[in-house]
Amino acid sequence: MAGKISSEPLPEGAQRIIGRDAMRLNIAIGYAIAQIVKTTLGPKGMDKMLVSDLGDIIITNDGATILEEMNVEHPTAKLMVEIAKTQDKEVGDGTTTSVVIAGNLLKNAGQLLDKNIHPTTIIKGFELAEAKAQEELEKIGEDVTPDDSETLKRIAMVAMGSKGIGSDKEKELIADIVVKAVKQVSEKRDGKYYVDLDLVKIEKKAGGEVADTRLVNGIVIDKEVVHAGMPKKIKNAKIALIDAALEVEKTETDAKINITAPEQLEAFLRQEEEMLKKMVEKIKKAGANVVFVQKGIDDVAQHYLAKAGILAVRRVKKSDMEKLSRATGARIASSLDDLSEKDLGEAEIVEERKVGGEAMVFVENCKDPKSVTIFVRGGTEHVVNEVERAIKDALGSVASTLEVGKYVAGGGSVEIELAKRLRDYAVEVGGREQLAVEAFADALESIPTTLAENAGMDAIDTLVELRSKHSKENGIYFGVDVGNGKVSDMKELGVLEPLKVKRQAISSAVETARLVLRIDDIISAKGTSKKENESNELD
Ligand code: ADP
Ligand code: MG
Repeated sequence: MAGKISSEPLPEGAQRIIGRDAMRLNIAIGYAIAQIVKTTLGPKGMDKMLVSDLGDIIITNDGATILEEMNVEHPTAKLMVEIAKTQDKEVGDGTTTSVVIAGNLLKNAGQLLDKNIHPTTIIKGFELAEAKAQEELEKIGEDVTPDDSETLKRIAMVAMGSKGIGSDKEKELIADIVVKAVKQVSEKRDGKYYVDLDLVKIEKKAGGEVADTRLVNGIVIDKEVVHAGMPKKIKNAKIALIDAALEVEKTETDAKINITAPEQLEAFLRQEEEMLKKMVEKIKKAGANVVFVQKGIDDVAQHYLAKAGILAVRRVKKSDMEKLSRATGARIASSLDDLSEKDLGEAEIVEERKVGGEAMVFVENCKDPKSVTIFVRGGTEHVVNEVERAIKDALGSVASTLEVGKYVAGGGSVEIELAKRLRDYAVEVGGREQLAVEAFADALESIPTTLAENAGMDAIDTLVELRSKHSKENGIYFGVDVGNGKVSDMKELGVLEPLKVKRQAISSAVETARLVLRIDDIISAKGTSKKENESNELD
């Protein structure tokens, strides 16, 4: 390894790389990581096959997944993986974009270092550029409301991107479902929209076709009706949600009853039955004809519930109880004593249906439900999982579009436009920082050039044409039309993305570049060099 290695004040075996050497090494590694993921960018991007040391294979083109599975060792590489993760967590999309921008920021910073520009100056220039880029991004972004279904659908479709869910017709269907689901659970507060995606339940069952995927205006529970004697279908359901058990608690009885004679046992059992019967009476009295219980339901209670014509489901997950509450308007009761009619929720229909050989309970056609289910179907387990991933990406994109209220055109058009505006700004900045602002603009342009390369187009020709289009009036939306291998208006093509994805991609890329460029000393503990020694011995 090139670099000044001095280990004197450090523990034995520790290694130290300082100054420019440390920086060059980090830059090279950061750029290398970007080079690995960049071939996956865009709808024409390739997949990576990742093979674990146990031989498990993952085929994916998701930036975050690739970086995570690569198990990189070097700390700088780990930093790059961190941005991908942050990006994924914050917006659920744009991971490859942020890593590619970060890698190119680092590469361009390296060239400035070669011109003897101090890292602090470079960082300052990058920070100025970022602030300007974010400001311009807000101006470029266009407003969208929940009523703009077409725009939101386009955003959903672009987010699903290269995920293998087959035909355009299927994608349109799913985009439509996703938009409806997000709109249904969104809430408007002080003029802003908020979307809690936990309220959109995704329930999947292999079998059928992707085209059978649908939006359920309510909740699908992967459980069966608990007793064969209960009705399987209730119309105009009055639903009780109970997070206690419909059982007589053992601790209670242990503590109270000490049985010494057979008559006593009988009396006790009768008493227990009486208690369970009373529980069911209370549910009946409240007016419920459907009950979801978070814990168990005793056989005797089941019997009385069945006799009362009540449909009951037991051991419902806590998260599903909450969703049921949001969907039906029911209040979750912790004790039967305070259960009353006003705690009950409503649904037009509650029904157990057999899907793919398994019973599931559908709570459907709720009135203005604040929680809904996307019920995913598809030929095989693999297909439903891939559709689920696509749905999650689309949900994330549509939700963040609504929350921010703005979208931009994709295909590299927004990056080219920002680069152009940054170059104008660079002149204003002047001095040495000007060079860093220009280097930032160049790094943004790596997005359209990479999209072009991945689509088999000539990167330089494409860039030249894009710059020329953007220099003219109404050129702002021109980007890489990867489907047709040319430069086109992305807005007309319907390649739209949430503004939030771009905002976050730029800020996390700058964050990484800043972190890496601040490092001028790498001190590695014994561990790494010991490994090297060991392998030397083997040689
Ligand atoms: P990321 O992990 O950054 O989201 P993707 O592989 O999803 O990476 O690619 C996103 C990029 O692909 C964005 O720049 C987006 O504008 C672009 N893109 C998506 N669909 C199209 C399309 N149909 N035509 C051109 N560019 C597209
Ligand atoms: Mg994406």
